[in-house]
Amino acid sequence: MTTTVSAYAAPAAKAPLERTTVPRRPVGEHDVLIEIKYAGICHSDIHQARDGWGEGIFPMVPGHEIAGVVTEVGAGVTKFAAGDRVGVGCMVDSCRECDNCKAGLEQYCTGGGMVGTYNALDKSGEATYGGYSTHIVVDEAYTLRIPDGLSLDIAAPLLCAGITLYSPLAHWNAGPGKKVAIVGLGGLGHMGVKIAHALGAEVTVLSQSLRKKDDGLKLGADHYYATSDAATFEQLAGTFDLIVSTVSAPLPLDRYLSLLKTDGAFVNVGAPEEPVSLNLFSVIGGRKTLAGSGIGGIRETQEMLDFCAEHGLGAEIELIRADQINEAYERVLASDVRYRFVIDTATI
Ligand code: NAP
Ligand code: ZN
Ligand code: ZN
Repeated sequence: MTTTVSAYAAPAAKAPLERTTVPRRPVGEHDVLIEIKYAGICHSDIHQARDGWGEGIFPMVPGHEIAGVVTEVGAGVTKFAAGDRVGVGCMVDSCRECDNCKAGLEQYCTGGGMVGTYNALDKSGEATYGGYSTHIVVDEAYTLRIPDGLSLDIAAPLLCAGITLYSPLAHWNAGPGKKVAIVGLGGLGHMGVKIAHALGAEVTVLSQSLRKKDDGLKLGADHYYATSDAATFEQLAGTFDLIVSTVSAPLPLDRYLSLLKTDGAFVNVGAPEEPVSLNLFSVIGGRKTLAGSGIGGIRETQEMLDFCAEHGLGAEIELIRADQINEAYERVLASDVRYRFVIDTATI
């Protein structure tokens, strides 16, 4: 039976979010019903709720950093039972047949693309609704286990911010002997600092100002520089093996590429609404790589959760009530978040 659950939605592009209800499909054979406890606020929620990326589906219930408890399972479910602590990230399905899906890279599904947790249509053509809600029904194959030892509130942001940094840091071999810079100390960036440090890399934060320097060093950074200071770019020229940018706005890429060593890689995970420009000589000299990376696959997301539990890594959060979501959005846009807003979904 389809159920109706409480949620917070943007009724139209750029409209403030407000309380509403949305349908959840019946629990199918391979589905789990999750009582959502916490939902993180990712900057991607704001881009989409304000239709900055275009083609948004409204009303929109954002939220793809979901942590909760299983309350019911379908007859064919083998991975989970009622009472299990689980998470859901940015996708709830994909074709499962293409080479990428088979390789555990479902986020790059070429058989129609991954089905987003919200702002997408599922295989039956119904709109998906995300985690700013009390319950969600998800196929067990796209549901993650939250290890014991990680509280649900600080685990929720790992489902997007955590995996989005873990995946490129692992892929580009951040580790002992590697100099890694994280650009932007927000939700993604602060997890990048924690994870890169835990992987054994020498970590530098490149932030707009030195305002959050003490925090950055406590999170595990070895060095901290302000990008508003032109001397930073002279001082750090040719320094890094890997730079991961989490910046939500267009960056002057050429300046950042000058900070790489020969053969270094600049990996962009920030998803600005406008295009950026590039002088190709910035990558020709020094055989540099300019790359991007999107979240991570299901298997890798589980690996990341286990890694975070093993290293005692959760997000630094500000827990808020659902009626504070619009205010939280403004603070994220002002780079005034330390370091992830998480909604207590009991307040929805
Ligand atoms: P966030 O918490 O707002 O952090 C972004 C940080 O970027 C800010 O805290 C700020 O750090 C810096 N920043 C913001 N505006 C800037 C500007 N104009 N110039 C320079 N730096 C600026 O956002 P988030 O949730 O971490 O998300 C960051 C971006 O990643 C968003 O665009 C989001 O959509 C995208 N994203 C991508 C993926 C993926 O799979 N690729 C996944 C999740 C999110 P400082 O104050 O330290 O400068
Ligand atoms: Zn996200
Ligand atoms: Zn696929």
